[in-house]
Amino acid sequence: MPSVGQLMKVFVTRRIPQEGMKLLSAAGVCEVSLWDSDEPVQRADLLKGVQGAHGILCLLSDKIDAEVLDAAGPNLKVISTLSVGFDHMAMDEIKKRGIRVGYTPDVLTDATAELTVALLLATARRLPEGVEEVKNGGWSSWKPLWLCGYGLSGSTVGVIGLGRIGMAIARRLMPFGVKRLLYSGRTVKADAAEVKGEFVPLDTLVSESDFIVVSCSLTPETQGLCDKAFFSKMKNTAVFVNSSRGAVVNQDDLYEALTSGQIAAAGLDVTTPEPLPTDHPLLTLKNCVVLPHIGSATYSTRGIMAALSAKNLLGGLQGTDMPSELTF
Ligand code: NAP
Repeated sequence: MPSVGQLMKVFVTRRIPQEGMKLLSAAGVCEVSLWDSDEPVQRADLLKGVQGAHGILCLLSDKIDAEVLDAAGPNLKVISTLSVGFDHMAMDEIKKRGIRVGYTPDVLTDATAELTVALLLATARRLPEGVEEVKNGGWSSWKPLWLCGYGLSGSTVGVIGLGRIGMAIARRLMPFGVKRLLYSGRTVKADAAEVKGEFVPLDTLVSESDFIVVSCSLTPETQGLCDKAFFSKMKNTAVFVNSSRGAVVNQDDLYEALTSGQIAAAGLDVTTPEPLPTDHPLLTLKNCVVLPHIGSATYSTRGIMAALSAKNLLGGLQGTDMPSELTF
């Protein structure tokens, strides 16, 4: 603990919206060292930047493992991540050292759900292909058999992980005339009744859904969940959408399912790795729409996320309440 009047050290691993930086400087309790770039901090610079820090404000692209915690040293009291996902942090190591963790649930739910619905519609109704045809002269006439896709009306939608975001996606999809809403996960959800959600085994969800939306967290159980066996159970006319984390999907198996006609199309907001290399086979496919992990990317949401992550950090530094503390 620094002596009275001494400022605590904070390392912020990227430029973040002003809403967050202003709170940190106004608090007057910490001296902020910022990785002043829009690009990720290199590992060596991260290890150097955290040295002696009392607090770290990080992003989902920063791997926070034992090496980083060791580099930070015994001062470290709090890690605040500008994300709801925390699969980039070695939680067991963090817990062992008694370090508190802040994250940003709820505030990004609406933006991420909205983007997921946009991605689902773009994929199912082939919007990127359509836009491309308009630009490249492929649009010769209104043609009855051209650029047809799949509609939500009367369909069965399966949500894998009906958590905050999964539920917000379901709420937005139901008014499109969805007939059945299936969900799978570890536990039955009380608020699923609002969307007439049916809790079913994963296999049932996979084989009966016309649209599958993945919105679970990435854990050892969900890693690689969507693999060859998974895709082989899907309908040939079904559309697969993932806005959770890339590692939930085996991308080689997805590529195979998309090229063999096993499934109709896929929309991905998240991939492994990120960014996906521009020569990746998935990017050659017309029936695969890939977005650059922009689920929460609205101006207002990012500002609110930055403010919340700053408040979490300050709470952790001062040993007071954190608005969104991860309990683990
Ligand atoms: P959440 O409320 O914790 O929801 C996570 C859901 O995952 C829970 O419903 C949980 O079900 C489910 N789950 C856990 N293990 C599962 C399993 N083995 N099989 C099926 N479902 C399982 O979190 P959230 O706020 O909705 O966020 C969900 C995830 O979205 C985050 O972890 C993050 O990775 C991702 N995300 C992506 C973006 C983006 O930009 N694309 C933005 C924000 C978040 P139980 O409650 O039954 O355990």
